[in-house]
Amino acid sequence: MADSHNQIRRAIRHFRVAPGSRVRLPRDFDPAYAGRAFQRGGAALLLERGVELLAEYQAKLAAQGTYGVLVVLQAMDAAGKDGTIKHVMSGINPQGVKVHGFKVPSAEELDHDFLWRYQRALPARGEIGIFNRSHYEEVLVVRVHRELLDRQKLPPQTTGRGVWGRRYRAINDWERHLVENGIRVVKLFLNESKKEQRRRFLARLDNPDKNWKFSSADIRERRYWDDYQRAYSDVLSNTSTGWAPWYVVPADHKWFARVLAALVILETVMDIGPNYPEVGGEARRLMAEATVELEAEGPRRSVEEDPVQAPLKPSRSQTASGPNRTAWW
Ligand code: AMP
Ligand code: MG
Repeated sequence: MADSHNQIRRAIRHFRVAPGSRVRLPRDFDPAYAGRAFQRGGAALLLERGVELLAEYQAKLAAQGTYGVLVVLQAMDAAGKDGTIKHVMSGINPQGVKVHGFKVPSAEELDHDFLWRYQRALPARGEIGIFNRSHYEEVLVVRVHRELLDRQKLPPQTTGRGVWGRRYRAINDWERHLVENGIRVVKLFLNESKKEQRRRFLARLDNPDKNWKFSSADIRERRYWDDYQRAYSDVLSNTSTGWAPWYVVPADHKWFARVLAALVILETVMDIGPNYPEVGGEARRLMAEATVELEAEGPRRSVEEDPVQAPLKPSRSQTASGPNRTAWW
């Protein structure tokens, strides 16, 4: 297992934003990258295996109940956030995952500090939580549309010069606090090109089954593409930290984005290294007693006697002729 952990670590390293580096999009990261590291043919297999392993690790994470994982997903519209969540989490016990999407804040949410609603949605110990959009919207959409900040009811002296720098600091501090308390934080930016977004929007308009995904707000936001690229560049430059790194996931090829996202999340859980809790002496004694007590009730059922495992015997109603003959149960 240490071997595959190292392999995965190496495969994802290139996509991590080094703390303190200055990122400029789209210059520094190619949205269309789909490297040789995992060729298309092997991608389905790799995704399947990655998802399987993730499920195993998640089960241990839940049993241990010490650590949680927060996955932050950010992207422009139509970059594939929903599909990534669906595929990456497909094998996992639904009880162990919490997905939370964030929309325009409510009146109640605006009555609180900007991190309040995100704090309330955090995963518990043992859970993997996914933020579909996140506290980063507070330094992205709110920055691109400055009037949103004016709606946040902040004291006027706090919204002037340096407000974004202060928000980055608050975010970094908050994430550090989470990590120090057992909630790991990993952040994925699905990096889509403007060209690919156009193609996907047009597909939504052309295909009746995809029409529901289309929102005129998306086209409006697209007009601010360059502003968003700048805001994302600044976020990546200022909030990729040793304790909560950003990964820039090339998203023009969905299959590549999904494999890489799965591997990054898997690596995070592997790094925690969760184990099933050891059962100690007293518990073992109680288990032995329980086994004796249950066995005293009679012989163990053979597979034949087990109603679930046993081959079906036709019941009276199934053998009889008449209307019951076709009953499906
Ligand atoms: P979608 O994810 O497509 O359903 O859209 C959600 C919308 O909510 C997007 O347009 C986001 O920009 C917007 N949104 C999310 N968080 C915030 C926020 N903190 N302030 C303002 N708008 C937000
Ligand atoms: Mg949208």
